[in-house]
Amino acid sequence: MRLDIHGTADVIGVQADNPGWLTLDGTNTWIVGTGDVWVVDPGPELPNHVAAVAQAVSERGSLAGIALTHGHGDHSDAVPLLLEHAGFVPIISGLSGAGAGDSAGELEVISLPGHSADHLAFAFGDIVFTGDAIFADSSVFVAPGTGSMAGYLAGLHGLIDRDPRVLAPGHGPLVHPPAERLQEQIDHRLDRERRLIEAIASGHTSIDAMLETVWDDVPEMLLPAATVTLAAHLDKLEEEERLPADVERPDIPEWVV
Ligand SMILES: [Zn+2]
Repeated sequence: MRLDIHGTADVIGVQADNPGWLTLDGTNTWIVGTGDVWVVDPGPELPNHVAAVAQAVSERGSLAGIALTHGHGDHSDAVPLLLEHAGFVPIISGLSGAGAGDSAGELEVISLPGHSADHLAFAFGDIVFTGDAIFADSSVFVAPGTGSMAGYLAGLHGLIDRDPRVLAPGHGPLVHPPAERLQEQIDHRLDRERRLIEAIASGHTSIDAMLETVWDDVPEMLLPAATVTLAAHLDKLEEEERLPADVERPDIPEWVV
């Protein structure tokens, strides 16, 4: 399925057929520019999807490069297949060392860690491709690790300051207008933190008790993601020397990298 961004003819989205609890309707692959065309997040390794992306690229020009918001397979597994179609092109990603201020063709690299340590966003004029940093209607999981949650919140603040017209995420609908939704997500995370501190202070120090008290609105299917985000909140509190020693810490599942 193709996705249009109102007000620009230079960007087209292709949604992959990989719906799921982490991927929502499927991964959004964004084809950017004319002539020299960049692909943001080639998506999962589905031949039909890669063929649709290659088709959209060839309608606009030829592939000049690939920009990856992060390394998760639902965004990056299609890279080898796309290169088979298009030949060798540069791949810009956090894993290959790209960071704030770098460019990928006409795309400007923005640091937006949190969902994963290597997570980037890419600005194209007043549009920002935000990968799994923010969705229109649901929350993303924030990975544990030093500075992860704090870096995530700082990245969202940075996006508000940039004041883009629209955010094109890696899953689900466009985020428009961005500022309100970004602020809502910042407030949501800080509200969880405040409730987590309260829960711990009143003796809810086991993983189950913290999830039941603070993530009481989360459907069971999403509890694994909530547990990962709980770990990120606990890491932040520990860094800030606000975490009592008797609080249970979650094991991090393998799908979080
Ligand atoms: Zn994703």
